[in-house]
Amino acid sequence: MINLDQYEVWFVTGSQHLYGDEALKQVDEDSKIIAEALDKSDDIPVNVVFKPVLTTPEAIKNLIVDANNEENCVGLITWMHTFSPAQMWIPGLKILDKPLVHLHTQFNEKIPYESIDMDFMNLNQSAHGGREYGFMLSRMRMDRKVVVGHYKNDKVQKQLGTWTRSACAWADWQGMKVARFGDNMRNVAVTEGDKVEANIQFGYSVPGYGVGDLVAKVDAVAESDIKALLADYEKEYNINTEAQDSIKEAARIELGMRAFLEEGGFKAFTTNFENLYGLKQLPGIAVQRLMADGYGFGAEGDWKTAALVRAMKVMSSGLEGGTSFMEFYTYNLEEDNMNVLGAHMLELCPSIASEKPELDVYPLGIGGKNDPARLIFNTNTGPGVNATIMDMGNRFRMLINPCDVIEPKADLPNLPVARVLWEPKPSLEVESAAWILAGGTHHTGFSMAVNTEHLEDFATMAGIEALIIDDDTNIRDFKKELKWNELYYAYKQGM
Ligand code: MN
Repeated sequence: MINLDQYEVWFVTGSQHLYGDEALKQVDEDSKIIAEALDKSDDIPVNVVFKPVLTTPEAIKNLIVDANNEENCVGLITWMHTFSPAQMWIPGLKILDKPLVHLHTQFNEKIPYESIDMDFMNLNQSAHGGREYGFMLSRMRMDRKVVVGHYKNDKVQKQLGTWTRSACAWADWQGMKVARFGDNMRNVAVTEGDKVEANIQFGYSVPGYGVGDLVAKVDAVAESDIKALLADYEKEYNINTEAQDSIKEAARIELGMRAFLEEGGFKAFTTNFENLYGLKQLPGIAVQRLMADGYGFGAEGDWKTAALVRAMKVMSSGLEGGTSFMEFYTYNLEEDNMNVLGAHMLELCPSIASEKPELDVYPLGIGGKNDPARLIFNTNTGPGVNATIMDMGNRFRMLINPCDVIEPKADLPNLPVARVLWEPKPSLEVESAAWILAGGTHHTGFSMAVNTEHLEDFATMAGIEALIIDDDTNIRDFKKELKWNELYYAYKQGM
């Protein structure tokens, strides 16, 4: 359900008439070569579309009108081959509503010491053209990413690719619908927030449905479809239980939920174990498998995390490593071995599984329903990231924390849920203090495919606060950053 092939980024070059037709022809040709190189790059998952060089305010504005209107265009890569007096960019930039990256590169990699003359100098002026352009973006207070280096460099293409993935996720959010089955878990604070403000800021809406609406779909599922799905379960998982009725009921719920989400055009959803009226068990395997297919998910009515998980699914499409809804569950607090065991009641995504999952049925302990079926698995080890978004009252705040996923020291034979063990960066001690001081949620979007840079780029596109907790973090500075940001966001309205 996620297809990045449908998207494109436009490669846009700025110049001016001063250089004459000959030079502009050269600028056009060079730009085409760069756009083609980026289009061919394995790091950039969408089409890079070359656009003719821009030399007037009218042309710039027209291009940006077109970009705004082209649904498949997820953003602009902008480059100044020569000097492009930046007042020309004002009318266009004023109306731009797509993400923008400034590629500060030049056509030549090396200074041609032997042959360089003033013609060459006039044609290859990115070094100051890019700065003039950068001034205008800063003068207009436009947040953006700046990528510096020769366009053929791996590092440059990777940075552009990361930004492109985030731009796809941003495009995916525009007009997205997050289905909320039931409401928020009663009295929980951090999973709540202003859904109207989210629609304005993020572009997605969160319509709520009575669980009865879902139950109607579940009840309408055909027995033959259940049979076919059970055959898939048998192929894909090791089934470790005699509780066939429970698995059958879980399959029925999956089919009903899938039908509901497909018919309504939803890309993410939430459930709430307190609100299951008419469902015989909490959706476990259903949620897990829908997430594996690309749906965003948040438990207990957590629509912000559901939307974020979906965005991370889009960013990571086609990359190694999975992405899941996650919760900080319990700690290992030995002084020299401090880490987090992440899990949930049931709902981790099997895209992060390191092995063929086990399908099993156990009591839930809370919620008062029948024993739910769930997939149980361990995860691969390696770098991962946790991220979350909170509604701070006057703004949304994103927290980003890279981590190392590690092997559990021993088997967990009595733990009937999927689990991940990780060491946060720079340490559990610093991460947890910083995360808590920032008001971070207990739920996250967790990924072993997405990294800090994807999320940072995404926060820039969304225009929200982003706080990164990593190896550069110390608590004393982090507390200052929180206070400075309060001031910044209090004043930002007027900027
Ligand atoms: Mn939870």
